[in-house]
Amino acid sequence: NYRARSAFKLMEIDEKFKFLKPESTVIDIGCAPGSWIQVVVEKCPNGYVLGVDLQNVLPIRGAEILSQSDVTSPEVHLKIREKLKNRQLDVVLSDMAPNPTGDNATDHLRLIELCRTVFRLFSEENCIELKRNGVFLCKIWDGAARGDFIRELSERFATVKTVKPTACRDNSAEMYLFCRGFK
Ligand code: SAM
Repeated sequence: NYRARSAFKLMEIDEKFKFLKPESTVIDIGCAPGSWIQVVVEKCPNGYVLGVDLQNVLPIRGAEILSQSDVTSPEVHLKIREKLKNRQLDVVLSDMAPNPTGDNATDHLRLIELCRTVFRLFSEENCIELKRNGVFLCKIWDGAARGDFIRELSERFATVKTVKPTACRDNSAEMYLFCRGFK
């Protein structure tokens, strides 16, 4: 039993791209209540998974969790580094969603900014060490800044694809960017 229906989105994306391997090391940012972590633990039994969220997350066997942790905070970056030690990651996941303001354009930009924060953590800041050829999967709400963000991602990844799992159909703006082949 999964803690949220979001589990089916990750399963559908993995069905398509087959990127979760038994040995994969994974960080999942914006992981509460934890259904993506449940999926990752199942698919990566010999791997490692660290979840991070602003909210409190109940324990999940086989995963480490940083609860009450805001990924935009430098103290949280230190905690992430402490937990990861010198592990190199295969996969960075972000299913974060900021509290909606009700204004679609604002919500879109805030979520892109959160995704950029995660992107910087492995592309510039050495907080997360993403392996060469690693994967980054992030949720966005569609809007005007999507093209620019995809261009930024394309400078560091061999391919960037937009995916809309069928489980997203209740939220028309929601989509995922699947980035593979980290350079
Ligand atoms: N993938 C999760 C699952 O399957 O259970 C669902 C994630 S939920 C859609 C989005 C989460 O993003 C919320 O739990 C929220 O607290 C978290 N979030 C939003 N902003 C965040 C931030 N700045 N730092 C960490 N987590 C954040």
